[in-house]
Amino acid sequence: MTQINYFKEEFGDDYRTEVCDYITDAKVESILAAAKEPKPAEVKRIIDKALELNGISPVEAATLLQVESKELIAEFLEAARKVKEEIYGKRLVIFAPLYFANQCINDCLYCGFRKDNHQIDRKKLSQAEIRKEVAALEKEGHKRLLVLTGEAPNTDLDYVVESIKTAYDVQTENGGEIRRINAEIAPLGTEDFKKLKESEIGTYTCFQETYNRKQYAKLHPSGPKSNYEWRLSVMDRAQEAGIDDVGIGALFGLYDYKFDVIGMLLHAEYLDKKWGVGPHTVSVPRLNPAMGTPLDEVPYPVSDADFRKLVAVLRLAIPYTGMILSTRETTEMRNELFEHGVSQISAGSRTTPGGYEKKDNDQEELAQFSLHDLRPIDEIITGIAKEGYIPSFCTACYRLGRTGKDFMDLAKPGKIQEFCRPNAMLTFKEYLEDYGTETSRKYGKKCLKEMMEKLEKDNPKLAASIATKLAAIAEGEHDLYL
Ligand code: SAM
Ligand code: SF4
Repeated sequence: MTQINYFKEEFGDDYRTEVCDYITDAKVESILAAAKEPKPAEVKRIIDKALELNGISPVEAATLLQVESKELIAEFLEAARKVKEEIYGKRLVIFAPLYFANQCINDCLYCGFRKDNHQIDRKKLSQAEIRKEVAALEKEGHKRLLVLTGEAPNTDLDYVVESIKTAYDVQTENGGEIRRINAEIAPLGTEDFKKLKESEIGTYTCFQETYNRKQYAKLHPSGPKSNYEWRLSVMDRAQEAGIDDVGIGALFGLYDYKFDVIGMLLHAEYLDKKWGVGPHTVSVPRLNPAMGTPLDEVPYPVSDADFRKLVAVLRLAIPYTGMILSTRETTEMRNELFEHGVSQISAGSRTTPGGYEKKDNDQEELAQFSLHDLRPIDEIITGIAKEGYIPSFCTACYRLGRTGKDFMDLAKPGKIQEFCRPNAMLTFKEYLEDYGTETSRKYGKKCLKEMMEKLEKDNPKLAASIATKLAAIAEGEHDLYL
């Protein structure tokens, strides 16, 4: 039975939604063609428009992507820095990925978990093992998790739902608890998404990998994932089931990055039109070599300069969408990209099921791909604070039901700063009290002081109420937020 038949039997043609006609190879190519050889005056007009914080169209984004002039690139990188600063301030949301299992029936040619990779050991965490992993993460101070699995019958939805529940239930002394769990698992049907929603996930994330259908077909030769449209239409099913925070992404390096940025922006535009809210996050992973994969080189390498450029263009195009970067990037690159648009990062990550409890970076025999930033979380936090950013462990919006359109309605008139900045301060203070080392406390204190001074200038009333809450946290209170 081919995989297309598998879906036809399960779902008929019902899964095919308008997004499948909204994003086509021809449409993306025509957008890129229409924006070729950009004129400086047009580029400047687009930059000015982006600075109004209402985003730019896919054609305008395609224009920026094709700018070659160093001066003009510097101008839009600077514009992205301003937009980032204006909307998000100096705030970076921190999370940890947690791999429940690495079994997979797909054969994505770039991934270490692919079914034909016989060089890795397969592992599915038991509920007891999940408890240990989560406790290890909580002991490091994590409050937000992204849970992941391969796609396999033995890690079906019931297992995922049970595992999420287990993870939420684990509590350690010192107020250690996970307060938000996002999920990145294979696409589901609408009814299954309803079950997933009941497990109280925050964002559902799924990367299209590449939006180019021909390249997608080459890289995903078999398994359910070989069905491009089943994957592309996944967010419609998630939204139908009531999951209104969704995350999209492309794996950069699989195809021409310009094509994939435009594919992603069309996807965001489609979701906004169809559901009244665009994606909550976009992820910008870059392909890293994985053991046991037939790709001995990156098919379309993305240089650091191009990567910087694409992050900036995304920030200008969809200013209110969170942007996620993972530990696939080096420390230096991560620090630079915070400036130009990234608003969330993973910290202290392992891509091996069971890698946290064992504190193991070397279990290559279980890993999905190699990582570049292997520093422990406290070192990452210290680095962030030293750079003048404030790490945030905030989970307030999701717990107060400020999701989907409600979140965007708050975000767009600039309220992110009003809620998110103080919540970042409160959660960072809690981290420093409970888990900080001498060094992170030293830099953390300085960072919080600077944030407070700024808040006092911008909003003295709010500053006074946050000062009271910070003092309460110093006295041992937990989980204070707006
Ligand atoms: N199995 C699910 C799926 O494919 O959507 C979810 C988990 S999968 C482990 C998460 C993501 O890892 C994939 O969507 C892919 O973009 C990314 N990934 C796979 N191999 C990678 C590699 N070699 N380098 C960087 N990212 C990779
Ligand atoms: Fe499986 Fe996901 Fe890896 Fe593909 S990317 S082989 S679906 S785990």
